[in-house]
Amino acid sequence: MPVTNLTDLLDPARCARLVIKVGSALLVGKDGGVRRNWLAGLVEEIAAARATGQEVVVVSSGAIALGAARLSLARGGRASLADAQAAAAVGQIALSGLWAELLAERGLAAAQMLVTLDDLEDRRRYLNASATLVHLLERGVVPVVNENDSVATAEIRFGDNDRLAARVAQAARADGVVLLSDVDGLYDRDPREHGATLVPLVEKIDARIKAMAGESSTSGMGSGGMTSKIQAAEIATRAGIALAIVNGTSDKPLASALQSGRSSVFVPRRNDAGRKAWIGGRIAVKGALRVDDGCRAALGKGASVLAAGITMVDGQFRRGDLVTIAAADGSALAQGLAEYDADECRTIAGHKATEQAELLGYAPRAAVVHRDHMVLL
Ligand code: GLU
Repeated sequence: MPVTNLTDLLDPARCARLVIKVGSALLVGKDGGVRRNWLAGLVEEIAAARATGQEVVVVSSGAIALGAARLSLARGGRASLADAQAAAAVGQIALSGLWAELLAERGLAAAQMLVTLDDLEDRRRYLNASATLVHLLERGVVPVVNENDSVATAEIRFGDNDRLAARVAQAARADGVVLLSDVDGLYDRDPREHGATLVPLVEKIDARIKAMAGESSTSGMGSGGMTSKIQAAEIATRAGIALAIVNGTSDKPLASALQSGRSSVFVPRRNDAGRKAWIGGRIAVKGALRVDDGCRAALGKGASVLAAGITMVDGQFRRGDLVTIAAADGSALAQGLAEYDADECRTIAGHKATEQAELLGYAPRAAVVHRDHMVLL
């Protein structure tokens, strides 16, 4: 039985390991001060969850907002990358201290982990992060994770903690993610519009669901918005992890959300394991291969991408880089690791295996993207 509501996500029998992501607007008040009482309430709920046997990983935003207030920076510290990095450095130390202090009051040890996008995109570093998370959880520790904003540059940042939470959930082998936010969940249109209705359950994230996300970020304090939450849900649900978006503004946010009955839950779509889940959750795409209808149909039946079906090659990627496989109309079908550099792909695109050896000057590989290194989107 798949997880279909928040009650399931908070039940250790249904969800043994849960990632709770806390948005900046919940942690930091409009005056730039920490919402300490609110946070103490959440920590009480985390301690209660641990007491029932549910393991919890926290993904906490708020470093930039907190640091910006302390440094009196304009636009919440997001006016420039340099401001954000400085603000994060100042804010992070306070943020970690706060989590450690409040968790300790409930008898729990906190662990700080700061990660960049690259840490989780590189397979070896991803496995290291995963091992550390699992090791900490097994020892009853509550890992508190954030992006290492002070060292990540614009190109290699997650930029939002929603997708980070989904990736961390994969790495921690969690069963569920709760994104605590300042909106009730996904609405079928802009929530400010008359008649907008909350979508309680999403079984498949398609174009219709993505269109609902629009530009509906509310607080202006974090960088998430609904679009990044839907992207996070895609990453999580492909890896067999349920994800809920709930409004966490009230005290005791988990209990309040349960009581209000308002949330959007994204049901796990399939259960990609291990390496496949890692490929499906990767974010830094280096290029794209456009394929014909024959190749598209073959992909649906589990085939690899062969050069003969490729009609166009975009980008400058290297062998081993992540590429998108797109249909003739540009829609993304799959993502996977390229077996060739981009220029070699251009050389053999549209050609049959028998012609490739002469074009390449060496024996061709079995596929351009092998099905073992590819996931359908
Ligand atoms: N990592 C950022 C911070 O701690 C937050 C990113 C986000 O807004 O999601 O401030």
